[in-house]
Amino acid sequence: MATKQTENEMEYPCPKCRAGVLRPRELTYFTAVDGQMLVVPNFPAWVCDICGYVEYDERALGWLYTLLSPPMQHRPPHRPARGARPRPEE
Ligand SMILES: [Zn+2]
Repeated sequence: MATKQTENEMEYPCPKCRAGVLRPRELTYFTAVDGQMLVVPNFPAWVCDICGYVEYDERALGWLYTLLSPPMQHRPPHRPARGARPRPEE
């Protein structure tokens, strides 16, 4: 089950409108942790150039939530990464 990685994979088709492409951008990420507002500037995200759909970078989200180590309820959606990180064999 080897996933092939293509090079120059810097654009993804938009899952919402299916017409645009998601382009890398840096946005300000807002979230609430433990009832407190948390603002993360310059957060890597992907933005559709047609409909404006925003998807925050999954790896960055994983990193952020690892740092925060949330005690409960607030978890990022658990989806497999976009084949960006090779899984170390055990
Ligand atoms: Zn779109």
